[in-house]
Amino acid sequence: MHAFTYDAVLANDEAEWARDDEADRAPPSPAGRHGWALLEASEGLALHVGLTGQILHATRASGALLGLPYAYLSRAAMRDILPIGEYERTAALWQACLLDGQARRTTVRFTDASAGSRYVDLQIRRDTDESGQASLLLFGTDVTAWMQKLQQLTEQSLIDPLTGIGNRNLIRRRIEQYLAGEHPAGRRLAVALMDLDGFKKINDSLGHGAGDALLKEMAARLRGVLRGTDTVARLGGDEFVLLLENIAADEAAADIVEQVMRICRQPFQLSARQIRVTTSIGLAFATGAQDSDAELLRRADRAMYEAKTLGGNRCFRYSPEFDERLNEQFRIEQDLFEAVHNGELSLQYQPIVSLDGSNLCAVEALMRWDRAGRAVSPEIFVPVAENNGLIHHLGAWVLRCACAQLAMWDARGAHVGYVSVNVSPVQFSHPGFADQVRSAIRDTGVCAGRLVLEITEGALMIDPEAAGHVLTELRALGIRFAVDDFGTGYSSLSYLRRFPLSALKIDRSFVADMVDSPHAQTIVYAVLSLARELGLAAIAEGVETACQRELLAAQRCEMAQGWHYGHAMSPADLEAAFAAGRWRLDAPTLLPQ
Ligand code: C2E
Ligand code: CA
Ligand code: CA
Repeated sequence: MHAFTYDAVLANDEAEWARDDEADRAPPSPAGRHGWALLEASEGLALHVGLTGQILHATRASGALLGLPYAYLSRAAMRDILPIGEYERTAALWQACLLDGQARRTTVRFTDASAGSRYVDLQIRRDTDESGQASLLLFGTDVTAWMQKLQQLTEQSLIDPLTGIGNRNLIRRRIEQYLAGEHPAGRRLAVALMDLDGFKKINDSLGHGAGDALLKEMAARLRGVLRGTDTVARLGGDEFVLLLENIAADEAAADIVEQVMRICRQPFQLSARQIRVTTSIGLAFATGAQDSDAELLRRADRAMYEAKTLGGNRCFRYSPEFDERLNEQFRIEQDLFEAVHNGELSLQYQPIVSLDGSNLCAVEALMRWDRAGRAVSPEIFVPVAENNGLIHHLGAWVLRCACAQLAMWDARGAHVGYVSVNVSPVQFSHPGFADQVRSAIRDTGVCAGRLVLEITEGALMIDPEAAGHVLTELRALGIRFAVDDFGTGYSSLSYLRRFPLSALKIDRSFVADMVDSPHAQTIVYAVLSLARELGLAAIAEGVETACQRELLAAQRCEMAQGWHYGHAMSPADLEAAFAAGRWRLDAPTLLPQ
């Protein structure tokens, strides 16, 4: 603050009265004194102002500094040269200064002759003449350049330097401003967060220069789509966000999102190559409840992530139900880690029987999770385990547990033909899978010929060649394979001949529909003939009624499973059924070895 030009001048003049630390000492009236002559020589602002704000005296330099003609300045009042807000703020300061005699300091924005802004770091002091009449002395230095720089810096911290559109700060600020403002009824704020699909591949194969060019072009295209009131920003990487203000109906936001997807799909010309990209968008609306910039961005981000999970190139709209589902999934995921160790998982076994229900051919092992007294369906927790990789662990446990159970029944003299174990596609494509199976039979001493693995068509088709190797390797040990949910997955049948399979399990949806739908009946019939043709066994799943059983019998289906014959049961319940002689156990197996 001692860089004030007038300070130096006054110091030379030994006019110590103007020094900050002695501001309370009343200075002599400057008018007509040689002090003014020296101030004239400085480049700073120096004004002598009366109590009404009338300028009594101004240095010529002050005119130059404020960009005002001297003749005008020397006759003007403070309210003529300050914008109204600035005048009121400054006037309050000098009133206070007049009252207590303490100097005040502030940065003031003056308007110059061309209505531009001049920023002055201003000191306000009280002056009292010989007659005791108070007035004001204003000294200042021009800080316009600094203030402009500051403004520029602030602006820059809202701008993404690569693309020239807004950045995260801008978006946050705009959301805040919107939420704080008043809006027409029924109008809402929508936040669309987009992330390019496979952008890393473009960076990796064409270089970062091309990646940057793509982002710039994308920013330019996005700017073109938006309405005047909307904002676009880059959050970082290949993530953009659109702020759609005052959206009247959900469809209006959907329209804009559709346009965005369209402009993304148009080819990009990058280093003499045409590149095509797709994008995943998460859409969230302000709801009025718990809205904040962070919360809206979080919702849009979650929805965007879901769009990616669903395969990308789409828009997913956030809803509280979706949020709750994700949270529940997260909780399940966390609990699942503990479940195995806490003994919350168990296996139940569903009978697989001859169609008339008299012979027990096998049992299918089905996982159960008792989560704090409530059963969680494998249809819910198996996908979660597939997602976080826990399925390898669970799958290994199921294999071992099912084989051990079979060995135990053997030891008790209850001969169950084989045990059928479900294998998830994720588990199946893991390089350690064959080892898992081998160690399960080795450790439990069960003959490999008594284990059947159920895999889906999808699992076989992820990488048919690798699948072929695993099947062949395990088949050589004597393990057999059944195709689960047959008819719902991959439609190519050619692989059926290529893989060493033993059985097809007809999906329960066809069995359920076959009584009423000739179409479903035809499919069941076709699967049964296909199995016969290829020398495979066929097992009808989900048989619930005698009527379904009759239809299957008429089509010469030999094996079945379903509530008509028996639910999945605990080992103890199953043993009780064995003891009660519910099935013949040692009948010849209907599955070819
Ligand atoms: P899935 O392999 O198709 O198993 C048959 C499902 O149908 C079982 O459901 C069974 O309880 C049910 N079910 C049996 N008979 C009937 C019937 O007559 N009517 C109806 N409506 N349903 C019947 P669950 O136990 O809930 O298992 C669901 C799915 O979870 C299984 O379908 C399987 O894909 C998966 N799963 C179960 N246990 C395991 C496991 O240990 N490992 C893996 N990877 N997946 C498993
Ligand atoms: Ca199954
Ligand atoms: Ca099935």
